[in-house]
Amino acid sequence: QLSKRLETVVSYIPRGSKIADIGSDHAYLPCFAVRKGIVESAIAGEVVKGPYLSAVKQVEDACLQDKIEVRLGNGLEVITPGEVDCITIAGMGGTLIASILEEGKGKLTGVKRLVLQPNVSAKSIRIWLLQNDWELKSEEIIEEDGKVYEILTADRGEPERPYSNEQQAKELLLGPFLMKARNEAFRKKWMQESAQWKNILDNMEKAAQSDALNERKNELKNKIQMVEEVLSK
Ligand code: SAM
Repeated sequence: QLSKRLETVVSYIPRGSKIADIGSDHAYLPCFAVRKGIVESAIAGEVVKGPYLSAVKQVEDACLQDKIEVRLGNGLEVITPGEVDCITIAGMGGTLIASILEEGKGKLTGVKRLVLQPNVSAKSIRIWLLQNDWELKSEEIIEEDGKVYEILTADRGEPERPYSNEQQAKELLLGPFLMKARNEAFRKKWMQESAQWKNILDNMEKAAQSDALNERKNELKNKIQMVEEVLSK
């Protein structure tokens, strides 16, 4: 059985897609998506030998070699342009996901949808999408085993569309769709983050003051304020 987190990622893959799942580890996501008849074929990309071998074994054990190809390589270097129409990247930091997309930009020809599940820093992904003409189409935030996960979906389109002029900083941090819905998982995530930032701030107050520290303190105060404004609605 697939985790709720990965099932949610799969739910945003258009039916009949050819996908590449980058950082596939055990290839659980492509195996599930192929078995359920959601995708036509899949490439499972992995940069580390151990997880790559686990993916190969998983695909062989499931007898899905004719539908799923496991490839060893860094980020999008495992695909050729036009080969897939949907890319999933899950279970990594948002900064790493954004850097994989940035380095592999040339491979995104023909890709119509990105489904991304950052463990932290979804903001880095929202910024990358905005700067690269991908329109954030939906966001979901879920809790599983006490952890909160965000799932972002983007299509080629009008990157500015989900953002407003006045609130863009807040929307990039918290998610334009998520901050409207403000569900329980969202509240939990941002209450925890903001409590952590307050702790860091307290420690900073005790440290020797410098311009760099003041700048970091202001950045944190600003983020705490943005979160509090949204949560207090
Ligand atoms: N996607 C799976 C999931 O969400 O359950 C696995 C997540 S696992 C925490 C992250 C995987 O991404 C690891 O197996 C790691 O080796 C792989 N990875 C990290 N950076 C990568 C890169 N640049 N290219 C391909 N795979 C990468």
